[in-house]
Parts: sequence; structure tokens; C-alpha cells
Amino acid sequence: MNDTELKERIITLKNKLDVSIVAHFYQKDEVFELADYVGDSLQLAQWAAHDKNPYLVFCGVGFMGQSVKILAPNKRVFMPKIACCAMARMIDVDYFDANVKLLNDAGIARTDILPVTYINSSAEVKARVGMMDGYVCTSSNAKKIIAKALESNKKILFVPDRCLGQNIAHEMGLKSCVVGDGSDPKEFDILCYNGFCSVHQLFDVEDIAFFREKYPDILIVTHPECKPEVCALSDFVGSTSQIIDYVKSLPLSQKVAVGTEYNMVKRLRQENTYVLSSSKPECPTMNETTLQDVYNTLLSIQEKRFENEISISEQTQEWAFKALNRMFEL
Ligand code: SF4
Repeated sequence: MNDTELKERIITLKNKLDVSIVAHFYQKDEVFELADYVGDSLQLAQWAAHDKNPYLVFCGVGFMGQSVKILAPNKRVFMPKIACCAMARMIDVDYFDANVKLLNDAGIARTDILPVTYINSSAEVKARVGMMDGYVCTSSNAKKIIAKALESNKKILFVPDRCLGQNIAHEMGLKSCVVGDGSDPKEFDILCYNGFCSVHQLFDVEDIAFFREKYPDILIVTHPECKPEVCALSDFVGSTSQIIDYVKSLPLSQKVAVGTEYNMVKRLRQENTYVLSSSKPECPTMNETTLQDVYNTLLSIQEKRFENEISISEQTQEWAFKALNRMFEL
């Protein structure tokens, strides 16, 4: 079956079965194009949780489908590929606890630690954070969440993205370190877990130097999952949605080099737009979802086989919801 036939079958089945399809900005074009709603992880979770259809097919990575299930436990959520974000995979509950213990050993009591997890983490890690009265954040609201968390006068344990934690700390004039890097955590405000995004790590200061030399008036735009030294040299740093809004606000004659996932950058606009890398920074896990996978998932719903359905234990859902909801309350 070719792509056109597959798309037609997907649309027919989708309408017949009362299914909504959502796709993250980093999905392949052919999957992105047939979604009812596209957005970043927070937008998709919010939209999907309030969608009227009972079935949701989520084209993204595992933690995103889990976030919908946490927010709307009665909705049946399916993922054509349960692909795990490389960053989210860098932390589990045991690693989280090991970091807390490292801080305890360094003289910081558990009661003096307030965890904040980037939304790119598993439901279990979010639940652990919820149990410690902590928060979930996204790249667009991390600054606001951290400002709120600091009102507790506790040390902030920021997981799992060390770059986002360091970039926000820098922006807020706070001191940050990476847990286990040999420094004394008592001297710092934000203690970052040593995780990172393998895609956003690909952008380097040399890439910025290359584009600035070639096009002296170019603007450099990066995502806060990029290295701190890369963000420090950028003209604009923002979340996926903030990058889209910023680039759209520029005159078409303005050259811009964007440091984020390839599929999204190439859809941003045709003219005067460059990917801030000599390589092709595609997210391998986001790219795993194909039209055939979406079709197979719809077929499994039709035939009541319900493959690749997201399920979360009641206890995990309860605590992870608390951490997510604290973010929404703000
Ligand atoms: Fe995870 Fe990075 Fe892929 Fe985003 S781009 S899903 S953070 S690996």
C-alpha cells in the first residue's frame, strides 16, 4: 500500500472509530499532516485531556502519551510506537533515589530538597517527584516553576535535563551544578541530574561561529536543551512553541539558523532558514512512528485487540497527577 492509500484508510478508520490523532512537532511530515492537532508536549497533553473522543492515538514519545493518561485516566490512549525519549530513559526511580542519597551524603537532608522534573520523564519519576511535593515543568514555564519552588527555601533537584536546569539557573542569576560532578552541592541553588537530549547536544559553538561568519546579520535561535555555552551565544532561546512564534514574527528577508529538531526546523518556513548544524539532527525516537504504525493501531482498535495502549498504575497516576497539577495551578 502506498502512502496516499494508507492516508485514506487512516482517515476513514479514524472517523468511523471516534478516534483523535495528535502529533508532536518533531514527527515525520506524513504523520504530522494527518493529525487532528499538533503541538509541543504540554499543548498536546492539555488538548488531548479535554478532547471529546474516547480514543486517542498519540504520535510522539512515551512520556507524552503517559502525560495524557495521567491527566485523563478514563481516556484510552494508544501510541503507534511506544518510542522512549532518550533523555527520559536516562532516569528511573532508582537513579532518582540515588541522586537524592548523594545529596543526603553531602549534608542536604531529604526534607531540604524540592524536586522539579522536566515533563520529559516517565510517569514513575513524576510520581516520585509528586511524593516529595515537587513540580513538573516544561521548557516554556521552567523559569516560573523554579521561581515558585525556590519560595520553599529548599535546594532544587532538577531532573533529568542538566542543560535546561543550567540554562534556567543562568537566566535567573542562580548557581547550578551537576549532582556528582565533584562540587559541593550545598554551595548551589539548582542541583541538576546528569541527563541530556542526544539531539540538542549536537549543536555546538563552532556551528554558531560558522553561520555568523558566513552571514553576519543572521539570528541564532536555540532550544534550552542545548548546551549552556550554545544558548549563551544565541540571539533567542525558547521552547518549541516559542521558537515557532519567534521565527514567524521575523521578516522573511531575515536569515535565521535554528538549533532544534530537523523535522520541525524544515517546516518552519522555506526562505532564509537554516538548521544550525552540518549534520541532520533528527530525533530517532520521534522518527520511529510511520503511517503504517498509525494504521496498525487504528486496526487494532477496530478489532478490539487494543495494542500499544498506555496504562499506568493507580498509585503512580495519583502522585504523578499531583506533580503535573501543581504546574497547571501556577
Ligand atoms: Fe527526547 Fe531529545 Fe527526542 Fe525531544 S528531541 S524526544 S528530548 S531525545
